[in-house]
Amino acid sequence: MSQDRGTLYLVATPIGNLEDVTRRALRVLAEADVVACEDTRRTRTLLEHFGIRARTVSYHEHNERERATELAQLIEEGRTVALVSDAGTPGVNDPGYRVVRACVERNLRVVPVPGPTAFVAALTASGLPTDEFYFGGFLPAKSHARRERLAAVRQLRATLVFYETPHRLAHALADALEVLGEREAVVARELTKMHEEIMRGRLSELAERFRPEGAARGELVLVIDREEIDEGVAEGTRAASSVADLVTRFEAEGLDQRAALKRAARELGLTRDEAYRRLTSERSRSKV
Ligand code: SAM
Repeated sequence: MSQDRGTLYLVATPIGNLEDVTRRALRVLAEADVVACEDTRRTRTLLEHFGIRARTVSYHEHNERERATELAQLIEEGRTVALVSDAGTPGVNDPGYRVVRACVERNLRVVPVPGPTAFVAALTASGLPTDEFYFGGFLPAKSHARRERLAAVRQLRATLVFYETPHRLAHALADALEVLGEREAVVARELTKMHEEIMRGRLSELAERFRPEGAARGELVLVIDREEIDEGVAEGTRAASSVADLVTRFEAEGLDQRAALKRAARELGLTRDEAYRRLTSERSRSKV
């Protein structure tokens, strides 16, 4: 990469609360030769708020293809371009991919300036597992396609995260309940803004809550647990099984005795010591 070529910066901006802008984002925006924005008016308001004067050009879904080439050309000539979207991280369900691609193909420098993004904020505050997740952007608007998309991720052992619009939320929740079964879920709305709300419940409860017309408002993220709530089995196990029965069953499934006992204790809501005491007593009784 030659030194006299420029750089494309991908600059994340707030998803509501202006305090979330980073110092680095402000510096990069102030120093850029060109700020490429999804909506120039909206970005100018943000820049003015921070006292930044910049040359802005539009880069949105309708001119992305041509603009990507033009911007890459500018960078090749040595200019610095900062790309922003209306909110959050450019490229995350917002234009960005094409100009990044154009730069990568020309071997130009691409530098992320990370910051807010709505799905990460929702996922991390959801209380659902964050070790593995699937981010699906917006679910399709039509029910048939939406159900197909949900069916395609039903078996994933990952927390599911989607963007949703207020008028489709109730339908999405109802379809999710039908396709994925009853699961824990979270609707996060208006994150970082004055009316921020993080609503937790089962899919059926949230579907009911948002069923009335107009019940969902603002910007929304839907987060869904990776597995169904299996009450039937859990309750049945608690009521009917002895520790010995469960350990025998889990050993037959391939666990060694220690792991089988641990799992039986967990399913019965016992400490491991208590489960071991019961196991010994049940086995000695059965020998009599
Ligand atoms: N680039 C953005 C990002 O990094 O999150 C996403 C842009 S996408 C076009 C807009 C969608 O993101 C909204 O419809 C909503 O689902 C979600 N979103 C954006 N801001 C949000 C907020 N403050 N609270 C909840 N969801 C938000």
